[in-house]
Amino acid sequence: MSDRLPGFSTLAVHAGAQPDPTTGARATPIYQTTSFVFNDADHAASLFGLQAFGNIYTRIGNPTNAVLEERVAALEGGTAALAVASGHAAQVVILQQLLQPGDEFIAARKLYGGSINQFTHAFKSFGWNVVWADPDDIASFERAVTPRTKAIFIESIANPAGSITDIEAISTVARKAGVPLIVDNTLASPYLIRPIDHGADIVVHSLTKFLGGHGNSLGGIIVDAGTFDWSTGGKYPMLSEPRPEYHGIRLQETFGNFAFAIACRVLGLRDLGPALSPFNAFMILTGIETLPLRMQKHCDNAKAVAEFLAGHPAVASVSYAGLASDKYNQLARKYAPKGAGAVFTFSLKGGYDAGVSLVSKLQLFSHLANVGDTRSLVIHPASTTHSQLDDAAKVKSGAGPDVVRLSVGIEDKEDLIADLEQALGA
Ligand SMILES: *Cc1c(COP(=O)(O)O)cnc(C)c1O
Repeated sequence: MSDRLPGFSTLAVHAGAQPDPTTGARATPIYQTTSFVFNDADHAASLFGLQAFGNIYTRIGNPTNAVLEERVAALEGGTAALAVASGHAAQVVILQQLLQPGDEFIAARKLYGGSINQFTHAFKSFGWNVVWADPDDIASFERAVTPRTKAIFIESIANPAGSITDIEAISTVARKAGVPLIVDNTLASPYLIRPIDHGADIVVHSLTKFLGGHGNSLGGIIVDAGTFDWSTGGKYPMLSEPRPEYHGIRLQETFGNFAFAIACRVLGLRDLGPALSPFNAFMILTGIETLPLRMQKHCDNAKAVAEFLAGHPAVASVSYAGLASDKYNQLARKYAPKGAGAVFTFSLKGGYDAGVSLVSKLQLFSHLANVGDTRSLVIHPASTTHSQLDDAAKVKSGAGPDVVRLSVGIEDKEDLIADLEQALGA
């Protein structure tokens, strides 16, 4: 073997996987079992005391899931990862390690709608307080820092309009505040952007979207960059203080640069319980093998569709960072030179009625609430996901009555454009 480091596409196919040692199976088997036999009583005791790594029970870890974890950690350039049942579960598990009741975290205002709800309502009941900042105004993050701030949360490519976040500038704010930067990298995938290269300390994904890529399996994952010192100032007791659950060990002291991933597993996943099914891990692993091919096609199609829409007389404006005229194009060239993703919005001159009419006339684009599928997807937020908001709130969240969101799939771009043309023109 040469000592060449494998490239991204090689890692996407191979990282974490080996032929099965007992059967020779080349694809990663689905270890559909709840539990694992111990070698002997000493082995069992050392597994439970975190003195040895090994399988105990699928709520804590599973060999199929372990391949997925190693693969995504390799693709993101992290030290370790933890797979869980959904992107939302990943967000809960991350913040549970960082926040005590009464603590705060700063989040970019431009986020997946489900995350806005989770942060605003569900997390409030845990005593975790979200403070919103504007990702287009870096100083707003600085102003939001208080002694109770424990983390900053942003999306790399942000919902709903596919805008690009200046990760390095916000990581500088996080560093100065002494808190970790968490980046939701769902819309970019590590093929387009690797947030750890730009200063992220924790990366989170909804595997449900581009990584799985086929719209068939929910999952989430947490990647530990291994960059943050959790011992500073006693701010992160879950990581720095003796854990009564594990004979008083300190996780940072024991596990060093993958202590956060361990905390998420042995304190978060073990006790909260959102384990990923090994079957879903298998489906998502299979998806990841073609991530580089799919993602490039998604981006190339999205750019062609955005260009078509920008030239159409029924369209008022297009927000796609891959267009040279877009206000995020500079950031897109810096952070996502291979393509600006496949999720973006555009607005129609005909307003609300034109949006409703468009989604009803499209045939190839499926009208549904998801992104990152092989299939092209469309939604008119004002009449669906955001219909409960008043008009001013709709506009503020990027879901004004005239706005349509696309997630462009990997079909032939000529067919996608023809479908939009008939739906817009008729
Ligand atoms: C879908 C999504 C989530 C939530 O993930 P689930 O797997 O649906 O729980 C979080 N962030 C982003 C950007 C998403 O697109």
